Amino acid sequence: MKLLLLEDDDLLAESLAETLGDAGYRVDSATSIRMAESLMATEDYALAILDLGLPDGSGLDLLQRWREQGRRLPILALTARDTWEDKVNGLRRGADDYLTKPFHEAELLARLHALLRRQSGGLTQILTVNGIQLDEHTQKVSTDGATWQDLTATEFRLLRYLMHHPDRVHSKSQLLDQLYALEQDAAAPNLVEVYIGRLRRRLGKHIIQTRRGQGYMLVSR
Ligand code: CA
Repeated sequence: MKLLLLEDDDLLAESLAETLGDAGYRVDSATSIRMAESLMATEDYALAILDLGLPDGSGLDLLQRWREQGRRLPILALTARDTWEDKVNGLRRGADDYLTKPFHEAELLARLHALLRRQSGGLTQILTVNGIQLDEHTQKVSTDGATWQDLTATEFRLLRYLMHHPDRVHSKSQLLDQLYALEQDAAAPNLVEVYIGRLRRRLGKHIIQTRRGQGYMLVSR
């Protein structure tokens, strides 16, 4: 699941990106409105974290522009200011939630999980597809609801993406795109095969089907 982080404070951005990465999210970081707009135009994000005070303009204006363009992704606003006017203004212009600096990263993660759950319409942290249960908090998977296996960060990201988008064929490059952040070196496409193979060994062969020449599909039944 890909997130966009727009934060011009380098230290905070780095720390947040690491925390979010550890929690299994793929994060693209932008430090200016210009960068964020070009990323938003080409990438598909599940959620955006948006600092409101930025070097090249107002995050509030950007927020409003995205909403006017019809972008519906959940947006969590960050700000150093904590007057109630700013908060009301931010929410009115399209933020889904609001966090005032300084904040604990655990609180940011909790808000973010809540927004993503609200977005997908569920209240549970367990994602269930075709008998496979994925706990999005502990990053463990179960095929019988009783024993839980640990997943590596990459296995977790890949499986979560497939489970959120079942019965659709995903090309190797689409899956690779979900696994690696933009700044990292391009990974070899056969890495996707390797991770699909590992997931099949954990979950059973029938769950993830290969469509020759097209890609992979997780089947929901
Ligand atoms: Ca700032």
